[in-house]
Amino acid sequence: MPTNPITIIGGGLAGLTLGIGLRQKSVLVTVLEAGHYPRHRVCGEFISGHGQATLARLGLADKLPAAGAMPASTTQFFSPRAKSAIRKLREPAWSISRYALDALLADEFRRLGGEIRENERWRGNEYTAGMVRATGRRLQPVENGWRWFGLKVHARNVPLNADLEMHLSPSSYLGISRLKDGEVNICGLFRRAAGPERGAPVRREHGESRTTELEPQAPQFAEKSRLKSELQTFRGAPGSPRFERLANAVFDEDSFCSVAGLSLRPHRAAQSGDCCIGDGITMIPPVTGNGMSMAFESAELAIEPLAAYSRGQLTWNEAQATIARACDERFARRLAWAWGLQRLLFMAALQDSLVKFVPRWERLWRLLLDRTR
Ligand SMILES: Cc1cc2nc3c(=O)[nH]c(=O)nc-3n(C[C@H](O)[C@H](O)[C@H](O)COP(=O)(O)OP(=O)(O)OC[C@H]3O[C@@H](n4cnc5c(N)ncnc54)[C@H](O)[C@@H]3O)c2cc1C
Repeated sequence: MPTNPITIIGGGLAGLTLGIGLRQKSVLVTVLEAGHYPRHRVCGEFISGHGQATLARLGLADKLPAAGAMPASTTQFFSPRAKSAIRKLREPAWSISRYALDALLADEFRRLGGEIRENERWRGNEYTAGMVRATGRRLQPVENGWRWFGLKVHARNVPLNADLEMHLSPSSYLGISRLKDGEVNICGLFRRAAGPERGAPVRREHGESRTTELEPQAPQFAEKSRLKSELQTFRGAPGSPRFERLANAVFDEDSFCSVAGLSLRPHRAAQSGDCCIGDGITMIPPVTGNGMSMAFESAELAIEPLAAYSRGQLTWNEAQATIARACDERFARRLAWAWGLQRLLFMAALQDSLVKFVPRWERLWRLLLDRTR
């Protein structure tokens, strides 16, 4: 019978998936979550890759459609002056709002007997035996001379050619994907040259913690005009395909959220001093649409070692090392390819050619899809 309890710091996708997997093995688990459910998160809301199989193995995939998940099987790429043909994905992905997905996982964890303490931020410095860090992405105000930030909003009245459109520009890429009931999710990664702050939309919102996720920006009176100008960031340069796409967009202002200080450089789990999963290990560049998958996969890799620790069959150090090794083996190559792809995509001079030719070259297209997920 399991005895050692597990405490998971962070109830995002990784933390909740791990909690569910551990509860399925009757381990005593508590999740501490700084925020609450449901809430909007900065995310392309596009689940693709091996994490889909993880969800199936944990019995969660069948619950997605009822929570509003839609299968997505086509994609198209745009640069300011070029566009690709519409491409079919090899395996359909899922499009689902994080508002619904995180709440679904939280409900399932509770249903299985897990305890979640919402609105409770853990402020300790040291992770001791039995504590898992699932606190999401690390804060890195400047990386390689750039400030990276993410924005997301839901909207209506945005006609799309494909289930997912990816719009490149020299300073951003923006994914627009179909959600249920005619809504779309618009989510982008943006960069600005580091230097004196010039009113980057989200800089002021940094919390004191390692996570930089922000609450959705409710359109309170004082914030209204600022919000309007932040929403313009999505539209891009006049004349670009992205500008045209969003010409008549009706934004759901309550769904707007932003995150800053993103670090895209790959890290290894073994280098971390604590037992960590998901973005807590490292963040894969969002263009791959694979961060959620890595959150699910890393959580799954942690279930068995943590259950063995709980039963007293592994020491904490053994369990932690086993998880770190498994995650590094699974993700190292994927992260290296994604890092290379991310750098390529931000080379402005190459964007038109990349958009036009890569989706046409079957072998290259398949290679990129396979290696980054
Ligand atoms: C612009 C952008 C677009 C993206 N698009 C996609 C996409 O299309 N597809 C995809 O698969 N991935 C995408 N991602 C990545 C994806 O969102 C993440 O990989 C995923 O959310 C990671 O899950 P996680 O559980 O590790 O972290 P999170 O989901 O960030 O959860 C961490 C949780 O920990 C909590 N927390 C933090 N600190 C504490 C503390 N001290 N105490 C208590 N709680 C704490 C936070 O409140 C949060 O709920 C995107 C990311 C960005 C930035």
